[in-house]
Amino acid sequence: MASPLCLRGGRIIDAARGIDRVQDLWIAGGRIAGLGEDAPAEVRSHPRPEVIPVAGAVICPGLVDMHVHLREPGQEDRETIETGTFAAARGGFTTVACMPNTVPPLDERSRIEYVIRGAREAGHARVLPVAAVTRGQLGEALTEIEELAEAGAVAFSDDGKPVHNAEVMRRALELTRGLGVPVIQHAEDRDLKGDGVMHEGWASTRLGLKGIPAAAESVVVARDALLAELTGGHVHVAHVSAARSVEIIRRAKSRGIRMTAETAPHYLVLTDEAVEGYDSRTKMNPPLRGTKDREALIEGVVDGTIDCLATDHAPHTEIDKDNDFESAPFGIVGLETALGVYLKALVEPKHLSLSELLLRLTVNPLRVLGRPGGTLEAGTEADVTVFDPARRWTVRASEFASKGRNTPFDGWELRGRVLLTVLAGRITFRSEAFEPSVR
Ligand SMILES: [Zn+2]
Repeated sequence: MASPLCLRGGRIIDAARGIDRVQDLWIAGGRIAGLGEDAPAEVRSHPRPEVIPVAGAVICPGLVDMHVHLREPGQEDRETIETGTFAAARGGFTTVACMPNTVPPLDERSRIEYVIRGAREAGHARVLPVAAVTRGQLGEALTEIEELAEAGAVAFSDDGKPVHNAEVMRRALELTRGLGVPVIQHAEDRDLKGDGVMHEGWASTRLGLKGIPAAAESVVVARDALLAELTGGHVHVAHVSAARSVEIIRRAKSRGIRMTAETAPHYLVLTDEAVEGYDSRTKMNPPLRGTKDREALIEGVVDGTIDCLATDHAPHTEIDKDNDFESAPFGIVGLETALGVYLKALVEPKHLSLSELLLRLTVNPLRVLGRPGGTLEAGTEADVTVFDPARRWTVRASEFASKGRNTPFDGWELRGRVLLTVLAGRITFRSEAFEPSVR
């Protein structure tokens, strides 16, 4: 067992409980022991608590990313559970949900157990596996949903692809409803998408690249809102990118339909204009869209239509990603830049307070997945992130813990440096740049 910790003099933001004040945080026995200047009893009885001064930094519940591709089993050249979860710790995340589009996919109990075991051995972060909705993610026969949930799957998704068949989606929602777990939809009409490689608009015309219309996403979101209403099941829309999708989700929520949503950092700070140099690090699915979409997403995050801020961390090898734009695979990494990009997109322009941002990065995704935690309440497991919101740093993809270096943010100067990540009372990451800036 790790020795007790005292994080001294930080700004404690526990958004779920409305706490935002400068205080010490005490950790002992893997759990939060308490807040305040005086050591709680369980710390006092220990000979040497480690005291870490963090004045000027924010102390918050460990960040949660509900959309990560760990690529294991089967694509270990892109990422492994070990490298992906260490990247998570470096990014301030203590919990990640991993998508089932591995090789083979997470469509059987033994594979869910494999991921859970691998994550425990790596020890860098909690990993919540998402199981496939259909066998082989082929979109036809449903997996053993109940058995997979029992094995530890927290949600079901065919991510990488949509659940295209409406009847299959209906049955998946009926089965998951009783278990209280969501179906996470990669909303995309495959016919409208066709062989498009970027957002369909002026930029795609100018660049001579095949477009994917925003409607390819929104028609599936609209259909799924109707299916959620029909079944009473819970649809969670992954990586929302389009303005119309935000409208549809907002309307569904106002009618009491069980629909939640997430977006990813890149959609809030980049548009299809970024594809200009044919850089494959701007190629992801769904694609970067127009300015109106970007603005609508920010509005949706602010008013709560979009509940969660995820990353869609999708590592690829450099050989694959180094291709010309049309042949390169879709996807970029995000774990080690998410906090800085979200601060830049949402807090620096004052769309959200720090506390409002952290709600969407901690407790909201846990609630969507029906999990406890996301607070710093005494007695709960000590998953804690410490970051300096003012500290500037430059993104260097070559220094990532992730095997994936495919980021459009390489060389960007961001604010918000993660200093310390604590998982169940144990330090999983400590920045070399530790001394928080004096303000
Ligand atoms: Zn997806």
